[in-house]
Amino acid sequence: MRTDNNIPIDSFYEQLFENSNDIQVIVDGENGQIVNANKRACEFYGYPKEKIKKFKIHDISKAKNLEEIGHVFKQPLNCKSNEIYLTHKLENGSKEEAKVTFSKMCINEKIYFNMIILDIVEDNNIKGKENNTEIELDDYEEKLKKVEVDYRKMLEHLPVAVIVSLGIEQNMLYQNPLFIEFFGHAFQESSDITEWWRMAYPDTEYRELVLGEWNARLSEAIKNQSKIEPMEVNLTIKDGSIKQVCVHATVVDDMNFITFIDMTERKKAEDAIRLINSYNRSLIETSLDVLMTIDSQGSIRDVNSTTEKATGYSREELIGTYIFNYFTNLEKSKDAHKQVFKNGIIQECELELKHKDGHVTTVICNGAVYKDECGQVEGAFVSARDINERKMRESELERQKSAAEEANVLKSEFLANMSHELRTPVNVIFSAIQLFELYFKKSSDTNSLNCDKHLKAMKQNCHRLLRLINNLIDITKIGAGFMELQLKNVNVVSIVEEITLSVGEYANVKDIYVQFDTEVEEKIMALDPDKLERIFLNLLSNAIKFTSKNGKIFVNIYDRGTSVVISVKDTGIGIPQDKINEIFERFIQVENTMVRTNEGSGIGLSIVKSFVEIQGGTINVLSEVGLGSEFIIEFPVNVLSEEYHEDYNIIDNKQNYAEVLNIEFSDIYK
Ligand code: ADP
Repeated sequence: MRTDNNIPIDSFYEQLFENSNDIQVIVDGENGQIVNANKRACEFYGYPKEKIKKFKIHDISKAKNLEEIGHVFKQPLNCKSNEIYLTHKLENGSKEEAKVTFSKMCINEKIYFNMIILDIVEDNNIKGKENNTEIELDDYEEKLKKVEVDYRKMLEHLPVAVIVSLGIEQNMLYQNPLFIEFFGHAFQESSDITEWWRMAYPDTEYRELVLGEWNARLSEAIKNQSKIEPMEVNLTIKDGSIKQVCVHATVVDDMNFITFIDMTERKKAEDAIRLINSYNRSLIETSLDVLMTIDSQGSIRDVNSTTEKATGYSREELIGTYIFNYFTNLEKSKDAHKQVFKNGIIQECELELKHKDGHVTTVICNGAVYKDECGQVEGAFVSARDINERKMRESELERQKSAAEEANVLKSEFLANMSHELRTPVNVIFSAIQLFELYFKKSSDTNSLNCDKHLKAMKQNCHRLLRLINNLIDITKIGAGFMELQLKNVNVVSIVEEITLSVGEYANVKDIYVQFDTEVEEKIMALDPDKLERIFLNLLSNAIKFTSKNGKIFVNIYDRGTSVVISVKDTGIGIPQDKINEIFERFIQVENTMVRTNEGSGIGLSIVKSFVEIQGGTINVLSEVGLGSEFIIEFPVNVLSEEYHEDYNIIDNKQNYAEVLNIEFSDIYK
């Protein structure tokens, strides 16, 4: 076939088709096979002509509405071209939605379609010309796309783990690389968030707890289109370890931007600091010393509890006040403060700390400045140690030392006294023996030997030695705590009366009148009769010893119901007031050994006192020099159960009572 100017018609149409500005594809009307595609069509789809001719129409395009395309293909031949929208699949994988026109043709009795694609840009241009608002919208969409890309880039480079989830359902939209790296898992886009929850919080109970709190906060944030209150949680990560994480989130429209900040290291550091702080605080608080920090003006910054106790003020009251207020000597404390900040240190400064209630504690203060990182003095630590106790210990030691020295002097006196006491009877016995020897040598007349007199002297001095030894044994037993008590239910009235009457012989020697009187005839109580005997013989022997001729001794018993009072009163020489408290002490005698007129060891009353006290009683003395003395004993009334009752009688119970008397009264010469 030829045209009028001799160009072959096939070639003419071919070139027309090939060089058309339209994107044109010829499709076989029966099977949809592409039979030709022009240059622009090849450019548009991105395939060479040979390749594109191997496709069928549905390989490179897809109709949104299949009915619509079916309708086009069924159109009669002379029908004008039909316009529909197709999605075109390009070689680079992208898709373009563009309008196409289909023109039906019949060549050599075969149906073909000429598909003309309106390029999308062109299409947009055309549309833009028709409607400016649409252009703006498209621009906006473009821009949004760009913004999205930029944001994605930004999120990818953020140094924290980020996820973006959608709405209250929180379907996963996006995770940044750090999130994937940190938690070791990537979730598919639009996947269900519950998978993430299960991985992050494997413990069901904990998960429920976190989930409840998180959902509450998120729905609040969605409602207000705001940030959520950050939440601290323990997240399980890829290697199974647990991280302490702070979760922040911001809600924009229906998107939730969630960031995870790993706090584990920071928490560890904080815990370590907290531990060190609490350790230091405990050290400070448990210190028995006053500890304070002060600034360069002397204002108190911090104190420990010992400071509160020592001053009587609370921490709150002390902080901010001047340290000088709490010492008695203002000048000295100000000077000490000056020294610390001048020399950096002060040691062993003795001051007096004032308590709110007025009492004062002597303290030894030490102080040292502390500096900041730049070496600038920040303040000073002050410690104050209570040395009251130390001072008291020192004075107690001093007291003990002088008591020991005094005891030593007493012991020496006692030894001198004892030597005298031992030497005197031994000398007497020795002289009597010498006399006997002499008489035996010179005379055969034994009658003229005066034996009776010398034997009596020897006997009495033996009694004195025995008394001394008995007393020494008793005082040693008392000192060692071995003194035994033999309690019996006895009639104390009859015992004391019996003892009083038994000493008449000795009282007669000095014409001393002894009188016994009692309020009650009988008082049964639990006492040790042997101890009673020693007590009253001792008191009566002292009364006779220290009462001059024709004096009087009164023994009285008073019944006080729950107690019994027994008084031994004499009209003797009396005891000076300054000695009254001492006479019950061991080895104490009012008269000096060398000058005294009476015999004695100075241990009798100390034994009496011990014997009274082990029976639960007390002993006191009233005395006036020149007028006499009264020893008052009070025993509480205690009674043992019936089986211990004994009708005790001193003289009947002691075969050798006369010997006992001789021993106890051996200081008194009959
Ligand atoms: P001594 O064996 O020396 O009598 P005591 O311990 O019995 O020892 O008495 C201590 C001292 O108490 C006596 O040396 C005496 O100075 C004084 N004393 C005791 N009883 C009397 C008394 N009734 N009258 C005056 N002084 C007494």
